[in-house]
Parts: sequence; C-alpha cells; structure tokens
Amino acid sequence: MQIADRCVATFHYTLTDDTGAALDSSRDREPLSYLHGSGQIVAGLERALAGRQAGDQLQVVVAPVDGYGEHQEELVQTLSRRTFGGGAELTVGTRFRADTNMGQMTMVVTKIDGDQVTVDANHPLAGTTLHFDVEVMGVRDASAEELLHGHVHGAGGQSHGHPAK
Ligand code: ZN
Repeated sequence: MQIADRCVATFHYTLTDDTGAALDSSRDREPLSYLHGSGQIVAGLERALAGRQAGDQLQVVVAPVDGYGEHQEELVQTLSRRTFGGGAELTVGTRFRADTNMGQMTMVVTKIDGDQVTVDANHPLAGTTLHFDVEVMGVRDASAEELLHGHVHGAGGQSHGHPAK
C-alpha cells in the first residue's frame, strides 16, 4: 500500500547537512514510525513520502522553510544573569526549558559576557537545509485509537502511559 493520510509509515533515515556531515540517523536504532498527514515529521519530508511504499528508497532535500524553519533573530535574546536565579550554572552550550509568552521553549546559552547572557530559542537545525536518505520499511492503516490521539502506538511510535480504563 502507498503512504497516504491516515496511514502509519515506518522508515529508516540518515540526515546530513549541505557539507555532507551526518546530523542524525535511525540506522543504529529502530526505524521511525509516524502518522502520515499529522505533521509529526518535517513538512518537506512528509510531502516527499506521500505515495511511496515499502522498499522505496529516496533522497529528499528539504529547505529550511519546509524543515525546522529559518533562523529567527527575535528568538535570540540577551538577558541579565539575574534572570536565571541564583545557583544556576551557566556556560555556553547549557540547554534549558523556559516558559515564554510563546509557550515552553528549549533554549541554549550561546554567549556569556559578564552579567549579560545570550540565549537562542531557535531549533538547533533552524536555517539548515536537510538532506534525507530514506528507506521506507512499512506502511499500514492507522488504528482508530491512533487517529484519535494523532500519533503512533507500539513499535517505533510514541511511548506514553495511557490512563487505565
Ligand atoms: Zn496515544
């Protein structure tokens, strides 16, 4: 069967950037499963997978706009160290989650200059053109429960505790 909305597709991928440097790969772990049409994977890759079937291999180049977005300068802020409270060990590269007026976001410290701490809330791959090398491993119909939840259950899917009935 072909990948379409309301299907669960399973695939292996290797992700590299423009220079060919490896960013991520599923090859050393379980393949990834996702509910097609639900926006769980980057838009450019989801589009390229539509109509594919098990055994298909494809190379997909995804521009930032269809990937993790462009790097947005307004997501970079310089704050007083006081903002972080006492005791917090801050070094360049420290990651933390913070409540903002755009919801909870993951930020990384990119610069420390005396009392001034620069943090960046862009996705680490924002502004990066993504090169996916993909092999489709399987396609099946999503279950009614998966469609209701909007994500995949079982192998390769979301592992979350469902409330006991
Ligand atoms: Zn669920």
